[in-house]
Amino acid sequence: RAKADGGGCFRLFEREMDAKVQTRRALELDLRIAFRNNEFELFFQPLVQLAGGRLSGFEALIRWRHPGRGLVPPGDFITIAEEIGLILPLGEWVLHEACREAASWPDDIKVAVNLSSEQFKSGAALAGAVTEALSASGLPARRLELEITESVLLAESAETLATLHQLRALGLSVSLDDFGTGYSSLSYLRKFPFDKIKIDQSFVRELSTRSDCTAIVRAVADLARTLGMATVAEGVETLDQMHALRELGCVEGQGYLFSRPVPAADVLGLIHDHQTVARAA
Ligand code: C2E
Ligand code: MG
Ligand code: MG
Ligand code: MG
Repeated sequence: RAKADGGGCFRLFEREMDAKVQTRRALELDLRIAFRNNEFELFFQPLVQLAGGRLSGFEALIRWRHPGRGLVPPGDFITIAEEIGLILPLGEWVLHEACREAASWPDDIKVAVNLSSEQFKSGAALAGAVTEALSASGLPARRLELEITESVLLAESAETLATLHQLRALGLSVSLDDFGTGYSSLSYLRKFPFDKIKIDQSFVRELSTRSDCTAIVRAVADLARTLGMATVAEGVETLDQMHALRELGCVEGQGYLFSRPVPAADVLGLIHDHQTVARAA
């Protein structure tokens, strides 16, 4: 009897696995078709200086406008795009698109682009792709920020560091994204001179309820200042958080308090409205 039950369970398990594998295959195929059909879009979310309120730039955030499912967030497809190798052409598309959009913005507004660790494995090809995107768009390198996560530095390979230095030599800046999550190690801060540290939103979210978050944010802001790096707080949703972050020494903030990510067509309007509000304040 037990054996029969076990067999039944196993068949059920197999059927579920089949369904999972099929869903996954369908998604992979869908993604490849989506890339060919131009179904990806960039949204842009402002970065705002906490003292003075100036809007200093926008982070480009990819979306998939799926014909049936609507707007799909990157969390649902970036990992798969990485696993099937699609992230290389997709990442190049993001670079080109972000630089092209930013070239039409005022000259003092920067654009930040997220890079996948897979793009770093392509080594010199990455620096080539960035150079290409800059020259095709006419965007000066000083207006481009590249965001990398600690996973890029995890390998700690000489090639990765060489690529980072090569990129920075182009005149752009490099930010360390999602700082404080995952494999955080202070030694990374010694290995490469980042321009900015982006403090992960998990610390910002609990700022008012947990004193350890306050202590961590203050320590990171102090450390960054000592090392000559700026700090950005991610996921700022309330005025209280904004005020606390400013007190703690964070330079910039990004979050729903200022704006959700918006389509490219809304960027110039947002810059204009922000200037009006900042002047009135
Ligand atoms: P990230 O680079 O840390 O981007 C910040 C994420 O936080 C974005 O999610 C943004 O919409 C969200 N966010 C911003 N403000 C708030 C807030 O006040 N509250 C909350 N709860 N969330 C906020 P999104 O757009 O879903 O992107 C998720 C992640 O996907 C990004 O995290 C980044 O790691 C990755 N990603 C996005 N675009 C690209 C891309 O073009 N290439 C690559 N390789 N990765 C990308
Ligand atoms: Mg980012
Ligand atoms: Mg982040
Ligand atoms: Mg994040």
